[in-house]
Amino acid sequence: MSPTQLSEQIRDLIKDVPDFPKPGIVFKDLTPVFAHGPSTAALADMYADRYTTRGVDAIVAIESRGFLLGAPIAAKMEKPLVLVRKPGKLPRKVFSETYQLEYGEDTLQMHEDALSSGQRVVVIDDLLATGGTAAATCNLVRQTGAEIAEVAFLVELGFLGGRQRLAAHDCFALVTY
Ligand code: AMP
Repeated sequence: MSPTQLSEQIRDLIKDVPDFPKPGIVFKDLTPVFAHGPSTAALADMYADRYTTRGVDAIVAIESRGFLLGAPIAAKMEKPLVLVRKPGKLPRKVFSETYQLEYGEDTLQMHEDALSSGQRVVVIDDLLATGGTAAATCNLVRQTGAEIAEVAFLVELGFLGGRQRLAAHDCFALVTY
């Protein structure tokens, strides 16, 4: 299946849920994608091909839906999967990055020894909205000295302009709204 065909197949599976989790938000429900085995397998193949040819050493996945995408890609590539998690989840010494939300702030963490200087990594999450989550993750990766080959998503909400926030990096999404 070509990336274009896969993109159309994934777009057909995604369900829009209006006013979730709050009024005015159209939530992109990806559970039907992960419930469809052939699509999940095809996604792992496509991203693994893309990053094998680009000499990527590790996949950095963002809690929690990023794990669902990152784990099969890393397994397919036989490369390390690095977890970026909410505070209090990782048991050893961590790097932390705090970033602003619409209301308040949030923090993401990564084990200090998860990556080393000079490694080439892909940062992966399910969906790019404003870009705050991915930008904070890129800052975490920078603390390790690793290099970001690309920031990748399944879905991009282009009208929110998150890509501009990640302008320092190559950025890829399979499906864009
Ligand atoms: P942001 O930091 O604004 O780019 O938000 C990205 C994170 O929020 C991703 O991890 C998504 O899982 C989640 N997210 C934001 N907006 C939506 C949406 N409309 N539908 C589904 N997930 C969303």
